[in-house]
Amino acid sequence: MTEQTASTTLPLQGLYPENGHRTDGEQKIIQSINPVTKAVLGEVPLATPQDIQTIMQRVRAAQPAWASRPVEERVKLLRNLQKSIYRNHEAMIQMLVDEAGKVAHEARIEMIDVFGMAEYYVKVSKKALKPRKTYVMLLPYRRQKIVRKPYGVVLVIAPWNFPLLLSFTPIMTALVAGNTVLYKPSEYGTQTGELIKKAIYEAGFPEDVFQIVHGYGDVGAALIDAHPDKICFTGSEVTGRKIATKAGEKLIPVTLELGGKDAAIVLEDADIDRTARGLVWAGVLNAGQMCVSIERVYVMRPVADQLIERMKYYMDKHVRPGPDSNPQSTYGAIITEAQVKIIQHQIEDARAKGATITTFSEPKGDGGERFFAPTLVTNVTADMELMQRETFGPVIPVIPVDSEEEAIRLHNDSEYGLTGSVWTEDVERGKRVMAKLEAGVVSMNDHVVSMSAPETPWGGIKSSGYGRTRGIEGLMDATYAQTFSVERFRIPFGFDLFWLPYTPFKRAFLRRFFHLWFGATFKDRLKAFKP
Ligand code: NAD
Repeated sequence: MTEQTASTTLPLQGLYPENGHRTDGEQKIIQSINPVTKAVLGEVPLATPQDIQTIMQRVRAAQPAWASRPVEERVKLLRNLQKSIYRNHEAMIQMLVDEAGKVAHEARIEMIDVFGMAEYYVKVSKKALKPRKTYVMLLPYRRQKIVRKPYGVVLVIAPWNFPLLLSFTPIMTALVAGNTVLYKPSEYGTQTGELIKKAIYEAGFPEDVFQIVHGYGDVGAALIDAHPDKICFTGSEVTGRKIATKAGEKLIPVTLELGGKDAAIVLEDADIDRTARGLVWAGVLNAGQMCVSIERVYVMRPVADQLIERMKYYMDKHVRPGPDSNPQSTYGAIITEAQVKIIQHQIEDARAKGATITTFSEPKGDGGERFFAPTLVTNVTADMELMQRETFGPVIPVIPVDSEEEAIRLHNDSEYGLTGSVWTEDVERGKRVMAKLEAGVVSMNDHVVSMSAPETPWGGIKSSGYGRTRGIEGLMDATYAQTFSVERFRIPFGFDLFWLPYTPFKRAFLRRFFHLWFGATFKDRLKAFKP
């Protein structure tokens, strides 16, 4: 364990593409590079503006025929997809290890979540997408049916941190709902993207129903310029704002799954030992590179020292950053050099403002610069960057508070609102606190685990985004509601109350009806009988 309070400052460097790219004649190529060994894992062509136009035309042309297939057929292909993912799952896990720098165990957890998602949508899609009828009180002579219609072409833009889960989820819902999909994986997940494409085609989805496009942010922007009918974006808040602006100009509906600054509230009656273990897990899983990583802990002051002591114990005992090749490793690499610098910068900023930084299990050996030590931060103040911006690293600040109200206020005093948690043994008290938290998902005595719940909607509020993936809401998000209205019987001329001509009979009838039906009191209703 290393404890430091001295001050040094590191410059914050912006994110920049670090994976390889080369040019082969006219063709530009993205190389996928293992963040630890720097081995080249594969290459993909970088899409040109012409490619984007051609591919957009293909997916657009294929969409009507795809949407007109019975939903049972699309569900069957989804079932096939589950099987083809199973056939490819070892390669996918290995690619998460090689390309995203994960340890295999954590890659397998992501894989399990993908299966859960496919299983769920195979089970519920037909029923959830079924048209529903509704009776309209003011139009008893008409029948109404509400149908969920696919948008058309859905553009799925994915991040690198959970590249399988966060690609497959919106792709599955879009496809099963009758959309065709244009998919842009992260520039740091191109080979994982290629495995996703392989599994989809092996399952029997027609080629033009799903197309992959590779590139950096400019390609993502050009894809929006090609005017898809819906965008499902998962990634950083900064990119999310750019996408929302561009999509807003074209009035393209967007779902935004953005970053977070998740907080956990620990009450005095929590099981402190279990809570410490849970907080450490949820703070360092995937090296903290998770939108739902715990990045703030508010603990009631009387139990703060005990919690910090147990968190230190578990950080020291349970956590080992390192490559998957080392069986002791519990989490893997930070994806880019730039991200390492962002985490270091936040720690240095906190230290300069008086925080105490305690690190554990300092990584050593080859690729060590990409394995970030689990870090606990105490003596934290609100002005530290660490408390304001997403860290995306295995760093957990702990802040003692004096009351439940203060904890709730600080939890909500954030630009973000993705997920949050309350840790207590008093279930009723926990529920009361949960109800006051501003976040898309709130858990008691657990945190990240909600990522493994395909049945429940997923998404944030405030700068964490809008729209929902997963659950029935995820399917609804991939569709729009279209209402059909037909005659039950024809109203004879003169009794069609809303139509012209506005006869004295119609005027009197509507006036009387209005008082009779909507009058707030008995006296109001009697007005219907006044001439
Ligand atoms: P990122 O925003 O840098 O990139 C995400 C994707 O957007 C990539 O495919 C990238 O090429 C593309 N892109 C970049 N600029 C673009 C532009 N101008 N127009 C269109 N596309 C563009 O994010 P990242 O670093 O890959 O992922 C990490 C971020 O994602 C973190 O902030 C994390 O919190 C967030 N995230 C959110 C969720 C969630 O469910 N809310 C889940 C995982 C990750």
